[in-house]
Amino acid sequence: MTAVIGDLAWQDVLARARELQSRGGAQVPADASGPADLAVTGPKEILEVTRQAAPGRGAVVMSSGGTTGKPKLTYVPYHQACGRLLEQWRPLTQDSVMLNLFNPGRLWASHYYMQTLAEQVGCTVVPSGPFAPEDVGGWLPMFREIGVDTLAGTPTALADFAEGVLLAGEPLPVRGIIWMAEPWTDAKHSSVVKAFPDAGFWANYGSVETYIIGTNTPACDLQTLHLMPDQMLELEEAGALLTRIGDGWTMPAVRYRLGDRLAAAECRCGRPDALRVLGRADDAVSLRSALFSVGEVLARARTLPGVDEAQLVLTRATDELRAATALTLEFTGGAEPEDVRQHLTAEFYHLAAVHTRYPGSITARRVGRLSRVERTNKVPPAVWRDA
Ligand SMILES: [Zn+2]
Repeated sequence: MTAVIGDLAWQDVLARARELQSRGGAQVPADASGPADLAVTGPKEILEVTRQAAPGRGAVVMSSGGTTGKPKLTYVPYHQACGRLLEQWRPLTQDSVMLNLFNPGRLWASHYYMQTLAEQVGCTVVPSGPFAPEDVGGWLPMFREIGVDTLAGTPTALADFAEGVLLAGEPLPVRGIIWMAEPWTDAKHSSVVKAFPDAGFWANYGSVETYIIGTNTPACDLQTLHLMPDQMLELEEAGALLTRIGDGWTMPAVRYRLGDRLAAAECRCGRPDALRVLGRADDAVSLRSALFSVGEVLARARTLPGVDEAQLVLTRATDELRAATALTLEFTGGAEPEDVRQHLTAEFYHLAAVHTRYPGSITARRVGRLSRVERTNKVPPAVWRDA
């Protein structure tokens, strides 16, 4: 039986499913007697249901993806579910001054979500977008003058900003760090803690389609989140299924397939419904017929001392989706590339077989900076190149 986080009454789930059916959502079988009888839903249903809800109240059209595939659109109500969120997660007070380091534009939601959160709290917000480390020093006097005490960004943007503060050698008294949209690496987390030793970490988990599903506070383990009330997650390998009841969300959901694999967890704060994000559900790649998980390869690579952060650069095979003819593990840190390559093929025997049979198909390369997604400034786990 599939593990579940969160507890919803079946009658409430069924009522929500029937309501969505009447609004362009999936058909509900007449004899449905449990969640497993309801259809799994995806971007198509979200677009239909959220678009139908938009007239009269307006909406912001946001998009996820679009870097490698067709963008998935969602009509997001202006409130961005901040009211429901602030009932249990308050990283800001009216006195806060938040620097919004999320990339604006290109239909990416995070920047606008932070602007609205600040507006609903009634604090001050500075919509800056991200900074290169070498540019931070020039801005610091102004940030100190206006009293910036909270930062919001991806771990990548926060680490860049922290490096800039460390480079400038002048402290900025930050008390709160709001982060989401990608996981921490040890190296990024260390930079941020070093630059802002007094800051508490606050996180959200969600997506552009769903907005916030779970939250994390400074009392929690760094990467453990708690499911918000009125929701249920079915923890399937192919991606967790989200169901929601009640009002105030950006979109209602019944068995909506998330792109991530999630697992139930315990948290040091003792609160219930804790979860961890294990990785993307679609991260299997084949290299010359050897199947592997991008996340697992990167996790192992990072266990080698001298590998701070890593990314796979894959040369696309022409005949098949998610198939590669060559793999280069690019990394930052002081390790020797050949040591990294050997570590990798020693850890994954089927990659070792590929390495033996196709010399040169698996390599490692030390770089100053990994590739980023231009739209979001995130570091993607894998980058595809044409042969
Ligand atoms: Zn916790």
